[in-house]
Amino acid sequence: MDVRVRIAPSPTGDPHVGTAYMALFNLIYARANKGKFILRIEDTDQSRSRPEYEDNIYKALEWCGIDWDEGPDKGGEYGPYRQSERTEIYQEYCQKLLDKGMAYKCFATAEELKEMREVASKLGKKQGYDRRYRNLSDEEINERLARGESYVVRLKIPLTGECAYEDAVKGRITVPWADVDDQVLLKSDGFPTYHLANVVDDHLMKISHVIRGDEWMSSTPKHVYLYVAFGWQPPTFMHMPLLLGVDGKKLSKRKNPTSIFFYRDSGFLKEAFINFLTLMGYSMPEDREIYPLEDLIEQFDVKRIGVSGAVFDVRKLEWLNQHYLINNIPQEKLWDRLQEWSFNDQFMQKLMPLAHTRIKTFGEFIELCDFFFINNLPYSEELFSASKIEPQKMCEAIQFIIWGLEEKEDWGSKALFETSKEIASLLEINHKKNLMPTLFASLMGKLKGPPFFDSAEILGKDRVRARFLQTIEFLGGISNKQMHSLKKQWDSREAVAQ
Ligand code: GLU
Repeated sequence: MDVRVRIAPSPTGDPHVGTAYMALFNLIYARANKGKFILRIEDTDQSRSRPEYEDNIYKALEWCGIDWDEGPDKGGEYGPYRQSERTEIYQEYCQKLLDKGMAYKCFATAEELKEMREVASKLGKKQGYDRRYRNLSDEEINERLARGESYVVRLKIPLTGECAYEDAVKGRITVPWADVDDQVLLKSDGFPTYHLANVVDDHLMKISHVIRGDEWMSSTPKHVYLYVAFGWQPPTFMHMPLLLGVDGKKLSKRKNPTSIFFYRDSGFLKEAFINFLTLMGYSMPEDREIYPLEDLIEQFDVKRIGVSGAVFDVRKLEWLNQHYLINNIPQEKLWDRLQEWSFNDQFMQKLMPLAHTRIKTFGEFIELCDFFFINNLPYSEELFSASKIEPQKMCEAIQFIIWGLEEKEDWGSKALFETSKEIASLLEINHKKNLMPTLFASLMGKLKGPPFFDSAEILGKDRVRARFLQTIEFLGGISNKQMHSLKKQWDSREAVAQ
C-alpha cells in the first residue's frame, strides 16, 4: 500500500506549535515509508477562517523547514486541497448517505437543542441530542421541507454495541455507541462539518494513515462509522501524545506562547525547535535527545511514539537551542544567522523612524531599542510601581486588553491604542498616568522608550501577548476564580459601559 499522510490545519488562528508538531510526525512517517505528505486546508468554518491565517501556516512551516508534496499552493492529483473549494463534493457524498438511509434530516430549532442539552445534562447523559428527528416519515419530511423549515443532516450512529478500532499507537480502542451523538454532517447553510469533510477528503485523497493529536480521539468513532456508512476502508489511525504546558494541562495560548512565530521572533533556531518538537512525541534509543531529523527518519519505529502527554518546557528548548548554537553553527556562520533573525535591513529599517529623533549618538540606539532584541525583560516591583495602581488592577487591565485585541483580531498600533483607551475608561483608571506606565514596563521593561504603539506593532502580536502574560504572572497572576469573574465582567461590559 502506498503511504499517504496529511496534516489538515484550520486557518482560524496563529500558526500553532501543535501544527508543526503534527506536520513533523507526518513528514517523518511519509519519508520513512517512501510515501507522500499532503497539506490540506480545512477552512469549512467560514466565520473563523481567514486567508492570512492560511498564509501564515505556509510561512511557519517553511520557517521550520517542513516541506509537503501536495497542497493548495503546490497542487497535486487529488486537489483541490482547500476544503472551501470542495463544498459540492461534500454535498454529493452527504446525499449518498441520505439515499442509503445512513443519515437523516433533522429540523431541530435552536430552542429545541438548548432544551435537549439542559435535559441531558440533568440526566448526566454524555450526548445532548435526543434523536427526535431520526425516524420521521417521508411525508413529514416533505411537509417540513415544503414549509421551508431549515435542517441539518445527521449521521445515524448505531444505538447499541460499541465502536472498536486499532490505534497504531495506543492499541485497541473501544467506545460504547451510546456515548456518541448523531453527529451533524451538513449544516443548515449547506456547508459540511469538520467530520464529513475530513473523512470524505481522507478517502478521496487516498490517505493511508491519519496521524493526529490525541485531542481528536473523541471524534474518531464518528469517523470510523462514517467509513462504515460509506462502505469504505478506514485508514490506520495514529493518535499522538498531546502537548502539555508545564502545569500539566493542554498547551494553551491563554497561558503559554503557542504561535510558531513567537519562537522564530524570539531567536530560536529552527533546527533546535524541530528537534525539540520530535522529543515531545518520540524517544530515540538510548535516550538520545539531540539528533538530526534524518536520523529519526532512518530509524523511525512507531513503537517508540509516546502514549501520554508531553510537556512543552521552554527551558528545555533553550537548553537544546544552546546546544545547536554551539555545535551546529560554526563561529564564522553565527553573524549570518543573527542577520537572518533580526539584524537585517528589513527589520532594522522598521526601527529607524522610531530612533531617528530620539538618539544623540549611535550608542543610544541600542539603549533605546534593546527590548526588540531581549527575551527576558528586567521586570521589577519598582518598575511597575510607577503606575500607582494595585498589581491586581494592572493584571485585570492587561487581561482585558488581551481579550479586546483578540476580539478585534487586530494587534496593530491603532487597535492597541484604542483598546487601551477603552479599558482605561472601563476600569476607571487614567490612561496616561496609570495604564501607560504598566504597558511600557510590560513590553519594554522600562518607563520610557520609542513611541509605544508603533513599537508594539513592530514587536508583533506574539511577543506582545507573551509579554503581557509574563507581566500578569510577575504581578501575582490571576486565579481561576478571578479569571472566571473577570470573564463575566468582560462579557457584560456593554451593560457596564452604559
Ligand atoms: N482540521 C483539524 C485541525 O484543525 C484536522 C484534525 C485532523 O487531523 O483530523 O487540526
